[in-house]
Amino acid sequence: MFVDKAKIYIKAGDGGDGAVSFHREKYVAAGGPDGGDGGKGGDVIFKVDDNISNLIDFSYKKKYVAEKGQNGSAKNSYGRSADDLIIRVPRGTVVKDADTGRILADMSSDEPVIVAHGGKGGRGNAHFATATRQIPKFAKPGFRGEEFNISLELKLLADVGLVGFPNVGKSTLISVVSAAKPKIANYHFTTLTPVLGVVKVGEERSFVMADIPGLIEGASEGIGLGHEFLRHVERCRLIVHVVDVSGIEGRDPIEDFETINKELAGFSEELAEAPQIVAANKSDMAQPEQIERFKEYISKLGLPFYEISAATTQGTQELIYGINEKLAELPPVKRFEAQPLTREEIEEKRSTKKRDFTVTVEDGVYFVEADWLYDILRVADMDDYSSLQYFQNVLVSSGIIRKLEAMGIQEGDTVAVFDFEFEYIP
Ligand code: GDP
Ligand code: MG
Repeated sequence: MFVDKAKIYIKAGDGGDGAVSFHREKYVAAGGPDGGDGGKGGDVIFKVDDNISNLIDFSYKKKYVAEKGQNGSAKNSYGRSADDLIIRVPRGTVVKDADTGRILADMSSDEPVIVAHGGKGGRGNAHFATATRQIPKFAKPGFRGEEFNISLELKLLADVGLVGFPNVGKSTLISVVSAAKPKIANYHFTTLTPVLGVVKVGEERSFVMADIPGLIEGASEGIGLGHEFLRHVERCRLIVHVVDVSGIEGRDPIEDFETINKELAGFSEELAEAPQIVAANKSDMAQPEQIERFKEYISKLGLPFYEISAATTQGTQELIYGINEKLAELPPVKRFEAQPLTREEIEEKRSTKKRDFTVTVEDGVYFVEADWLYDILRVADMDDYSSLQYFQNVLVSSGIIRKLEAMGIQEGDTVAVFDFEFEYIP
């Protein structure tokens, strides 16, 4: 099966926590703080792999989470940074943030792209000693790694896309002008997956041709197979419209030509306006009048016309030269600009994630729950006055205290944050 779309979830590694530790040495009573910093969490990196031709792997595995950085430890030891997580994709994969629709990366070149950054490590308590606070019993938790819902879309990178009705000879054509070996048979829809072939023009030059599975009427409205594949024509610099000029299947070449163009237009305006070359195929089986009539029609439209027979290779070399000449005039393959999230969008993502909390009351006890609060508790020592103060500030600035008051909390009521409980004092 050819899969060219997928949805996955990626998360970069969280940073390791900073350590709370104190220098210990024989005969030295209370040493200074020596808790080291946490290591950085792993990035999630996308990379092109030309051995992969479609996105099928991503329909099985949908979650990609990089490792957390190692926690810091005593003696000012830094935690080790986690390894990056590399996701390999076929060339031409467009990586989008599924929530905003923004393009995060167009994986067209060999350059790897960091899509989700790992969190920085938290600072160890060694950083927090001051003249008045000589025994800091707290450290900072690691920062969270970035996370995204991602949509992947494969948009093949080809200079030339072959389009046309099923059975007109597209696969035959690509097989005689390149090393590609698609399935060829005398029935419709033999080509179920786009096939790429490199076409050599003389010694020096070459271009990439894509055999796009047959379009049929209604493809742009999602009928049949073609619609799924039109996405791959989008990037092509030039469309080679293959038409069966012999009418052997009882169809009229002019009608075929118009039908397919309507399909292209129905998919996108850009596609409708893309430059075209017409290849009148199966000329070996056509009457000269048939060819002449079609040629006249195409010439009136001002399009280049090539009479070929893919089966006998008659005229295919001229077509290749014609394509090559036309390509020389055209801009390079379309790349999509990455549109990284704005700082506001990142903040918003983070703040709705980070500062979310829930409060529930049971028997006069107020239970506060939030992942990010857990992070803070994990590295704080609540017997320590400065830690406690820091914690209280967080409760106020995050709006938790306001929420408790709105819920009617009274002096002396108990607040429970995970396993840490305290009495509410206004
Ligand atoms: P596609 O569906 O457009 O890819 O068409 P195929 O390449 O699979 O060809 C469909 C049928 O047409 C096959 O039986 C081919 O052998 C035949 N065919 C392709 N090109 C020619 C040609 O130039 N002349 C003749 N007589 N038959 C051809
Ligand atoms: Mg085919």
